[in-house]
Amino acid sequence: MVTPDFLLGIINGLGIFALLTMAYGRILQGIQLGWARDLIFGCLFGAGASLAIANTAEFQPGLFIDPRAVMLILAAPFGGSVAAIVAAAITSAVRLWCGGVGAYAGVANIVSTALLGMLITSVLFEENKPKSVQDLLWLGLASNVPLLFILTVPIENANAMFWRAIGPLTVADTLGVLVLGRVLCNERKSFSMRKQLVIEALTDPLTGLPNRRQFEREFDRMIDNARLSQTSLSMLIIDIDLFKRVNDTFGHDIGDKILIEVADAIRKNIRVDDILARFGGEEVIIAMPKTDVAEAARIANRIRSNIERNISYGSRENGNITVSIGIATQRGRNVSFRTLFKAADEALYEAKEKGRNRVAVSSRRSIDHAA
Ligand code: GH3
Ligand code: MG
Ligand code: MG
Repeated sequence: MVTPDFLLGIINGLGIFALLTMAYGRILQGIQLGWARDLIFGCLFGAGASLAIANTAEFQPGLFIDPRAVMLILAAPFGGSVAAIVAAAITSAVRLWCGGVGAYAGVANIVSTALLGMLITSVLFEENKPKSVQDLLWLGLASNVPLLFILTVPIENANAMFWRAIGPLTVADTLGVLVLGRVLCNERKSFSMRKQLVIEALTDPLTGLPNRRQFEREFDRMIDNARLSQTSLSMLIIDIDLFKRVNDTFGHDIGDKILIEVADAIRKNIRVDDILARFGGEEVIIAMPKTDVAEAARIANRIRSNIERNISYGSRENGNITVSIGIATQRGRNVSFRTLFKAADEALYEAKEKGRNRVAVSSRRSIDHAA
């Protein structure tokens, strides 16, 4: 039966949905660590369900009816299994603390709702994520099944209670799941769109390498560390030899394909702490922390010979692609991007002057590839 209390419960429920949505968006954006995020999502959905219990309509002394099921069934699809378990634990504790004749049936209802959410999410949804209204409808309808636990409440008229509650509660829960689920879907979608935009803004679309902006961001941090720890920082500038000729002879598309292959070869030959970027048309820059000149030259030669051996213009007879590499290394408090870049660029010029397909170090000590 729809009473003023019941309607007030629904309005309170909508307020809880709004708070939960705001917090959900913040957590998505602010917490990157997977397990920490799952735990916090669990607390969030648990707090939402507990707030619903706090705003409950007491159907009869000790027997509470509220939209907790909405938060519990959505915990798994929007927070993951860990979140669903944490949410169920928190809500169960709150329900037990509230006591009353329906406490145990309430806990059974809470746990089974969260478990149903987990089951439906893993069995029915692609990538374990609800995406359509139909997906949400499954969750909404399923959230009502655990209402059957009302029948187990040890009171005389449990049966009559169940039939009185089932109608309005089923409608409220199902609609609640559709509304809150839709809003959470939108939050998640706009978060991944923002994330994608950030990635695109920092990535070169052709090679997939980080772009200059991303490099400069990370390099600032690298330079601070090098100054603090007084360790060597090396910079490599890699430039494809006679690349204009490749474009002119074989076309821009082959040129693009070669650029992608060169980028892949470079990416495979650097270390996890090194950062790299496509810096100009056919130039790639690498910064290597805690790397002295000998180590930088060793890696540069590895990259150079790997490209020479493996990348050709299309068929081996046409000839192989080669690169020239300039290296500069600096250490101490005065390490700077400008100095390193200028020195590495001069070294690159020297490598080109000396005949290309070689590595040159800014101290004018050229390391020939045959060495
Ligand atoms: P060098 O050995 O002295 O470096 O000779 P180079 O021909 O490589 O030097 P130059 O700087 O004259 O030419 C660079 C060429 O790189 C010119 C340009 O057409 C080509 N290039 C730059 N960006 C791209 C790209 O995105 N795709 C393709 N296909 N070519 C590109
Ligand atoms: Mg070139
Ligand atoms: Mg160039």
